[in-house]
Amino acid sequence: MAATTSETTRRRRVDIRRNDEVKVITGRDKGKQGRVLRVFPDEGKALVEHVMMSKKHVRPNPQRNVKGGIAEQESKISLSNVMLMCGACGPVRIGHETRGDRKVRICKKCGTTLEK
Ligand SMILES: [Zn+2]
Repeated sequence: MAATTSETTRRRRVDIRRNDEVKVITGRDKGKQGRVLRVFPDEGKALVEHVMMSKKHVRPNPQRNVKGGIAEQESKISLSNVMLMCGACGPVRIGHETRGDRKVRICKKCGTTLEK
């Protein structure tokens, strides 16, 4: 059964998961690579380690043992700006395949499963 258009727009398919290794293919941090820390499927965004770092000014808070100054923090990057890494091919498009009763993500280039 085919999904209606409204369903497709409402529930965007997200093929990136936590702990995936991704590469930034466009934008400010193009070329950077990192591990996915968190995915926000509703926004189509993710936090990727060491990618889209933004500086945040922090007030010292002695009670919580926080030193003042500038802290760096990841900010969300659009999932359309990153690609999943295949160990053999590098950044690739994701395909899907059913193995047994499991649906797995595969590399569209070499066909290897991308699940760990
Ligand atoms: Zn591959």
